[in-house]
Amino acid sequence: MQPPAVTFPERLALARLPTPLEPLERISAELGGPRIWVKRDDLTGCAATGNKVRKLEFTLARALAAGADTLITAGGLQSNHCRATAILGARLGLRVHLLLREEGDSSSTQGNLLLGLLAGAEISRYSKPFYRAHLDELYASWGERYLARGATPWVIPVGASDGTGVWGYIGCAAELAADFAAANIRPGAIIHATGSGGTQAGLTAGASIYGLGCPVIGVAVCDDAAYFHDKVRADLRDWAARYRPPIDVEQLAIEVEDGYIGAGYGRAGPEVFATIRRLACTEGLVLDPVYSGKAFHGLTEEIRAGRFAGVTDLVFIHTGGIFGLLAQADQLESSP
Ligand SMILES: *Cc1c(COP(=O)(O)O)cnc(C)c1O
Repeated sequence: MQPPAVTFPERLALARLPTPLEPLERISAELGGPRIWVKRDDLTGCAATGNKVRKLEFTLARALAAGADTLITAGGLQSNHCRATAILGARLGLRVHLLLREEGDSSSTQGNLLLGLLAGAEISRYSKPFYRAHLDELYASWGERYLARGATPWVIPVGASDGTGVWGYIGCAAELAADFAAANIRPGAIIHATGSGGTQAGLTAGASIYGLGCPVIGVAVCDDAAYFHDKVRADLRDWAARYRPPIDVEQLAIEVEDGYIGAGYGRAGPEVFATIRRLACTEGLVLDPVYSGKAFHGLTEEIRAGRFAGVTDLVFIHTGGIFGLLAQADQLESSP
């Protein structure tokens, strides 16, 4: 059966694509479960690395088509999305303004924040409660300020997760279809870290469009399963309303594993740092404590618990995050 054709909207070639799909032989053998394959979306770029670059290819194409000269976006102080937007904005000659949420005591200039500043982004920092209560007003008032100065601002939602950003991981699903054919595998599941929902929305729609034949499981890093069911569905509805695809997004199953959030967003326990060390030592693969390390830790625990008994192959999407690890060097050092 031919997959239904989808017509991609305009995109900018900003990511290094396609990314490789590689087997992790040693860690798979150690775990004694299915063979784990990793989709290397940590290789989409250097400073512009990780999953946000795939989404921003579409988001920024829209911004440029609208004549924007200024990008406004938001996230945590160590947001990978904000860093990627700052780097890509610089590459495209656009002004970038980041609205950042303070995270406890992580105030020193390092990791993603360092790179955002290096790329010349203007940065406004807000306390966590203020940001939480007023993000919509902050977006609107900064937008008005730039308009009043004669600029053309373009507001990008947190994580570039909306109907446009969804295309990024539909594109990844198309690559996975080719990867699975080349490796001659039929994986039992695709697993990834879910944070603002856009990656999951794209993979879920893309798995259906390209007939990947397995569930997409988002491992939550901040909010619970109910939150992600709503958020992923909302992004899919936004996508469907805007682009009228030939699939019914209401029929898509959204699968979330929320047992590995730990103490909350950006806060990983020693078990996550142990998993990060283990992958670095065993495979030379660098995960991060905010997203990919938490998700991979969840994957190893689920394998141990027998969730994937009888499955021969699993695919983990490495969504990037190395700069977030570097910003938590102290926690890495103090964990056994
Ligand atoms: C943003 C991010 C995620 C989560 O992707 P969403 O589309 O926001 O759910 C996962 N991993 C890394 C490294 C990220 O930066």
